[in-house]
Amino acid sequence: MSTEDDVPFNRNFPLAPGVVQEVVPGVRRIICNNPSPFTFSGTVTYIVGTGKVAIIDPGPINEAHAAAVLDAVRDETVTHIFVTHSHRDHSPGAARIKAATGAVIYAEGPHRASRPIHAGDARSTEAGGDRDFNPDVKLKDGEVVTGGDWALQGVTTPGHAANHMAFAWPQRQLMFVGDHVMGWSTSIVSPPDGSMVDYMASLDKLTHRDERLYFPGHGPEIADGPRFVSFLIRHRKAREASILHRLGKGEADIPTIVRASYIGIDPRLTTAAGYSVLAHLEDLVARGIVVTDGDPSITGRYRLAGPLT
Ligand SMILES: [Zn+2]
Repeated sequence: MSTEDDVPFNRNFPLAPGVVQEVVPGVRRIICNNPSPFTFSGTVTYIVGTGKVAIIDPGPINEAHAAAVLDAVRDETVTHIFVTHSHRDHSPGAARIKAATGAVIYAEGPHRASRPIHAGDARSTEAGGDRDFNPDVKLKDGEVVTGGDWALQGVTTPGHAANHMAFAWPQRQLMFVGDHVMGWSTSIVSPPDGSMVDYMASLDKLTHRDERLYFPGHGPEIADGPRFVSFLIRHRKAREASILHRLGKGEADIPTIVRASYIGIDPRLTTAAGYSVLAHLEDLVARGIVVTDGDPSITGRYRLAGPLT
C-alpha cells in the first residue's frame, strides 16, 4: 500500500532490470523486469560472495532474468540457492538456476497457508503461492549454512507467508529480509497465506537482532533496519486503532472499514487492503476484542465485543 505517511519509505531505486550492481563487497543485486503495484520495480535477486556464490530469490519464471543472473556468475560456481518464501515472484526461478548450475536449494519449507482454510476464503491476492516449490534442504530457525566466503543464518519470519525466512549474514551485520520488511511499502499480510499475529511477532523478532543493513525482495536497501521495523510496528498498531475506531461507530463490513481507514488508496490495491484489514480482524477476533458470525471472512460483518477500554 502506498497511503502511509507515518513510515519513512524510500522509493528511490533507479537500478534497471538486468544490470548487475555490487551494493557492498560480497553482495550483488539484479532486478527482474516484473514491475507491478505488488512488486514495485521488480523482484530483486541477490548474489552473495565471490567465487563460490549463493543466489537468493531467483525470482519468477523469466528467461531474460535467469540468463542475466547466470551471466553475472559465468566465471564463478553457484553452490547454493536460498529462497525467502514460495510466492511466484520469488521461488519458481530456483528450478531454472538449479538446472543450469547444480546448486542446492535451501528454504524453510514448501508452500502452505498460515492457518486452516475456511469455507469463506477466497484466493490470495498477491502474486500467488508457488505450490510446486519444495526445497532440497529445509532450514530451521537459527541454522547456519556456510559457503565459499560467506555464512548465512536462517531466521524464520512468518507473517507475509507461512514459510517466510530471512537470511542473516551476522559477520557482516546485514540481512536479506525478503518481503517481510521492504523500504518502498508495507508488506501484504493476506489470510490465509499471511497471518497478522505471526507478522507482528516476526517484526518484533528483528528488533532484537544486531543486523542493521537490510536487503529486501523488492526496492532499495534499508540502512537502519531495526529502526525502520519500529516504524512498521507503530504503523500497524495505528491501523488497528483506526479499525477499532470505525467499529466504535457500529457494526461494519470490510469494504466500509477500508473506505474509512485507507484514504486515497491506489484503486488497484483496494482488494489487498481488504485482506490486510481481514488479517487485523482475525487477530482482534482471536484476542476477543472484535466478534463476527462464524470464522472471520472477507465477506463477514464485524462489531466490537464490548466497550473499548
Ligand atoms: Zn511474497
